[in-house]
Amino acid sequence: THFGFRTVDENAKEDLVKGVFSSVAPKYDLMNDAMSMGIHRLWKDDFVSLLNPGRRGPIKILDMAGGTGDIALRMLDHAREKYADRDTSVLVSDINPDMLKEGMRRVRQTMYHNTPQIGFQVANAQELDPEIFPDNSFDLYTIAFGIRNCTSIPDVIKEAHRVLKPGGTFACLEFGKIDNPLLSQLYDVYSFSVIPMLGSILASDRESYQYLVESIRRFPSQPVFAQMIRDAGFTTGQDFSGQGGAWRDLWGGIASVHLGVKA
Ligand code: SAM
Repeated sequence: THFGFRTVDENAKEDLVKGVFSSVAPKYDLMNDAMSMGIHRLWKDDFVSLLNPGRRGPIKILDMAGGTGDIALRMLDHAREKYADRDTSVLVSDINPDMLKEGMRRVRQTMYHNTPQIGFQVANAQELDPEIFPDNSFDLYTIAFGIRNCTSIPDVIKEAHRVLKPGGTFACLEFGKIDNPLLSQLYDVYSFSVIPMLGSILASDRESYQYLVESIRRFPSQPVFAQMIRDAGFTTGQDFSGQGGAWRDLWGGIASVHLGVKA
């Protein structure tokens, strides 16, 4: 609001989102695989290859709404396997401690356990504590399938801009709008009936998955979201290996990757 107060709706949405992810946390990875038939893995792989961490030497990454660490672990593996980079680091941050707990459990089974390459921090993407997340402190800010759950998308992007170093990149992987009418219809059937059904069968939790589907519907279209990124002060369109465009659609726009660079 104009006065800096938060509305009842905003608080209610945050509580709802917290509840959803606390209840799905232990089954989150399994459910992701079941609902997307494993496709989310391909999208995440594409996202990480596109960002190509390690190519220009070690970097500091903030993986916001990082949940169970899916993006963070891929980033570290990519940098190490492709560039023998053992100095790139990721801070995984999420509003939900239960999701981070799952992430920590996973990391314990990897070589990154107890190394400075990975850390975890509970935080709200919309208001990051400047003591923990200082201005101009990260090279890369990633947010995968997280921003649509936030109450204020502009506040999230504004904070991303603040914590990135000049020249740093904001990178978002999120569901998008599909431009092919046939694919769009198929997708509607899948998301409105199959996903909540899988939610109730596999996790006895139809409502949480219903919420996830609705949050995808409400998320802005690719051009609108790209404009929000520019409004926060990022430049868009100079990435994607010279192909131009502010974003890249994956699978006909079911998901899309948006990039912005801080001047
Ligand atoms: N990035 C992970 C992935 O791709 O597997 C997790 C994605 S999960 C669908 C969305 C995450 O966003 C949840 O872990 C949730 O707790 C987190 N989240 C929701 N609102 C948030 C906020 N305001 N600040 C930080 N994280 C938030």
